[in-house]
Amino acid sequence: MIVEMKKGAAREELDDVIARAKKYGMEVQLNIGTDKTVVAILGSNTGQIPSDMFGVLPGVERVTRIMRPYKLASREFKAQDTIVDIEGIKVGGDRIVVMAGPCAVETPEQLKAAARAVKDSGARILRGGAFKPRSSPFSFQGLKTAGLELLADVKAEYGMPVVTEVVDSHEVRLVGKYADILQVGSRSMQNFTLLTEVGKSKSPVVLKRGFACTVTEWLTAADYLLAEGNSQVILCERGIRTFEDSTRFSLDISSIPVIKKASHLPIIVDPSHAAGHYSLVPALAKAAIAAGADGLLIEVHPNPKEALVDGLQSLTPSDFARLMKEIDQIARVMGRSL
Ligand code: PEP
Ligand code: MN
Repeated sequence: MIVEMKKGAAREELDDVIARAKKYGMEVQLNIGTDKTVVAILGSNTGQIPSDMFGVLPGVERVTRIMRPYKLASREFKAQDTIVDIEGIKVGGDRIVVMAGPCAVETPEQLKAAARAVKDSGARILRGGAFKPRSSPFSFQGLKTAGLELLADVKAEYGMPVVTEVVDSHEVRLVGKYADILQVGSRSMQNFTLLTEVGKSKSPVVLKRGFACTVTEWLTAADYLLAEGNSQVILCERGIRTFEDSTRFSLDISSIPVIKKASHLPIIVDPSHAAGHYSLVPALAKAAIAAGADGLLIEVHPNPKEALVDGLQSLTPSDFARLMKEIDQIARVMGRSL
């Protein structure tokens, strides 16, 4: 349930709303805006409490029942867009943020060459997996802590913040020491223990959409992060499993405007894992920006033929440079810039 307070409502009136919610065993979260305060009343059985219980209290403007299971990620709770700030790089504002780099951190030379290439072309955040969630236990699992150290070295050299995946709730602290943005992968989107730990960490997070999950389930997963007080959440559409097998996953372009309507959180798009093939990545990346995405997460490898993971879908530095010029043009049409 969302309780909107009147403009200029007194603190005591707000306290009454909070006290009544607590009396019924509910949790509350406040969104104190410049204009007015919005109270989210959280709990599994808010449906059993009549909304009039709050509507009659002085200082209350309106009470809205949220029938959807997500609350904190909803536009009803927070009308203004959330802007996530990573060392001054703002995701969700006018500028499109491109995060690019290899699927996996492999060697110092590979990571440095990737960082140099993507930075020269205008990417502002470096991606690279140190812990890789692989479908098979026999596939390369990533360099783990050594990979994190390489990311830190390259970050220091090139001055680019890094995004890297955390796969285990026990490793949130470790990965958080090195990463500027924690990535929760598609296969982990409903790992609620991991989400809770990442929420507690308060680090900026990229929450990828589970490839078999609906937008509602995705936003409900985001609530796990927000409920722990981590407001730095970036959603990432990366394609879903459908009957279509000409691409690795079907990029759900429509989730971009759907999310923009339903949620205040910024959304970026990963065209690489959806496409599964380098030749398809540019079209999907451009479509995402045209549909209103706030940024992109793209796999770029200095030598895709030698990549240990996802070489087929990785762009070469020159293909990436060309794509960035095209994205720049599309961003302008959308009234934004790179
Ligand atoms: C990745 O970005 O490296 C990755 C594993 O992506 P996803 O979780 O979307 O499969
Ligand atoms: Mn990959």
